[in-house]
Amino acid sequence: MLALNDLYKGYGGTPVLRGLKLAVEDGEILCLLGPSGCGKSTALRLIAGLETPDTGTITVDGQVIINTPIHERGFGLMFQDFALFPHLNVFDNAAFGLRMHGIPKAEIQRRVSEVLELVRLAGFEKRSVGELSGGEKQRVALARSLAPEPRLLMLDEPLGSLDASLRTQLIGEIREIIKTAALTAIYVTHDRGEAFSVSDRLGLMNNGKIERIGTPNAVYDHPKTVFSAAFLGFNNLLSAQELAALGIVVEAPEEKGVRLIHPSGIQISGDQGIAMQITEAIFEGERYRLQVSKADIQLSLSAPAAGQRFEIGETVQVEIDSRWVQALSESA
Ligand code: ADP
Repeated sequence: MLALNDLYKGYGGTPVLRGLKLAVEDGEILCLLGPSGCGKSTALRLIAGLETPDTGTITVDGQVIINTPIHERGFGLMFQDFALFPHLNVFDNAAFGLRMHGIPKAEIQRRVSEVLELVRLAGFEKRSVGELSGGEKQRVALARSLAPEPRLLMLDEPLGSLDASLRTQLIGEIREIIKTAALTAIYVTHDRGEAFSVSDRLGLMNNGKIERIGTPNAVYDHPKTVFSAAFLGFNNLLSAQELAALGIVVEAPEEKGVRLIHPSGIQISGDQGIAMQITEAIFEGERYRLQVSKADIQLSLSAPAAGQRFEIGETVQVEIDSRWVQALSESA
């Protein structure tokens, strides 16, 4: 549906987007995930038409839209701060975009009722947005961006200003609402948990480009590059020599470059494994975060607590499944 072809954009000589390529399919929720400053919001602003790229094109269903004015693109945008109008009630906030488009009153009434129902705010029409909770405000903002039936919905860190427990609760709701409305959406976040929960596919961005793209499971299971692995919090990166020192057989050991021991392939085992010493043990309730070492090699892993206690200095058997040892490339 939407394609970004080799987008470049800089500010005052500093490049922000460096050849961004992306294709968004009809009906999918695509998440742009990446560290702060990598260019996610800039990409959204270019798609929305708030800014123009230095070079490169944006197409919708094959048509170049670079010169299409913002309001003719038919895209909806929802920001982190919601940008609600504090002096308007819930109904008028949700109706805002429709009024801008000169939609007849009866149609506005029908459409606003429909979207307020969808975001579970039916009955809130007359309430002032100032007296709503953070989660409710967020749903009003979502209703407002859904009301004009955008052909593409863009959400920029929509849960960014809410506390962690509310974010976890709302992320599932947002996905359900977007799916119920059968929308195509681009969701921007720097939070990998949020990205995994909301997206059909996610594009991991680094330095103005897509570094890795795929389903959340594919990206998690096979990060492929050093940056992606680090961004996902995977830190067991070893050379072939170090793996050999641990007795792990790798394919093509002569090849330089680092290998990742994926978190899915490392665990504490009862008896068989590599004897390693615990150098750090952090109890997190359900699980322990452990650092273990042997010779000069340090590994980290997570182990179910299940009534056990792990102590620093203790020797444990670490089992590594070589099927989860992956070569990583320096960059995409
Ligand atoms: P992200 O959304 O991934 O955090 P942004 O796209 O907001 O990143 O910003 C990328 C970089 O571009 C940042 O370093 C930011 O300071 C810079 N930037 C964004 N907008 C402007 C602007 N209007 N003028 C100058 N620099 C900007």
